[in-house]
Amino acid sequence: MIVDKQGRRFRSLRVSLTAACNYACNYCVANGQRLLKASNELSADQLIAAVGYLIEAAGIDKVRITGGEPLITDKFDPFLAAVMKLPLQDVSLTTNGQFLKEKRDVIVDAGIQRINISLDSLNPLRFRQIASGGDLASVLEGIDLMLEAGLRVKLNMVPLRSQNSGDIVPLLQYSLERGIELRYIELMRMGHLVNNAAFQADFFPRESILDMIREHYEFERTDAPFDSTSVRYEIPGKGFFGIIANESAPFCSSCTRLRLSSDGYLYGCISNNNRHFIGDLLDLPRHRGLPALQDMLVNALGDKQDAFKGEVTVMKLIGG
Ligand code: SAM
Repeated sequence: MIVDKQGRRFRSLRVSLTAACNYACNYCVANGQRLLKASNELSADQLIAAVGYLIEAAGIDKVRITGGEPLITDKFDPFLAAVMKLPLQDVSLTTNGQFLKEKRDVIVDAGIQRINISLDSLNPLRFRQIASGGDLASVLEGIDLMLEAGLRVKLNMVPLRSQNSGDIVPLLQYSLERGIELRYIELMRMGHLVNNAAFQADFFPRESILDMIREHYEFERTDAPFDSTSVRYEIPGKGFFGIIANESAPFCSSCTRLRLSSDGYLYGCISNNNRHFIGDLLDLPRHRGLPALQDMLVNALGDKQDAFKGEVTVMKLIGG
């Protein structure tokens, strides 16, 4: 097993099936610019081969399917069916939820247990302003369908000072009523937001989120798994919520994440642009491919940082 000086290893792999997205959230990309799929994306078979290799070489035991928007690529159905057959402890999905109705049967039949859905506002207009499109009603219907099918649903909201801080409490109320765990993600200095005034203007820190919630609910901090990125809180008798506070409470020292982009690059750290092309290794005979991949993983682990610095990388390219 490959372990760094701080005892960190890769356990959890995020696979971006495509860079393309039907939304253009204004904290993710600039000026409503929709990212298209990369011309050299790996096929579903190649991505599955890469995951198989990473299970063997790095000891990956959890996979999260993400993007871009994973539900809009043809690769989603075959990838999901194949990844569920791999020896993994956990397979989960992150989606903007727009096409959950269309993909309901594929998701449920595959037997996936956990799904994270991004939802930044319950106000249809504000929702569309942030996402530069999309349809709130379809997302809400999708959430209900997943709950009815018995999946464990988490919601992800990125609070932005000038846009949706007024949704912090309504989204919590909505989630508590449905037994959903809501996670607030502190805005990250990525892509066009890297270290600039736009980031400072919209950054809404953990303490401010907690202050807003405190006006309506009593809560206490509770346990989260060791390698969880989220600080978890319990509202006694009502439920849980979490905050992924990469700025206020960095979690780099316990990070186990590795990312695979849709065009075949491994990223060892979300806050580091270094990347390592795995695509060429997939065609090598195993006795050559595996040691080469292990060398690559040593370098990728070396890319991990001690604190989140921000990066020009766009989240949807590397799988947020
Ligand atoms: N399309 C899918 C979705 O919307 O969930 C998966 C990809 S999206 C990049 C994954 C997550 O990254 C979303 O929850 C999104 O809110 C988050 N995200 C993107 N850019 C971010 C940023 N600069 N700061 C914080 N979260 C960000």
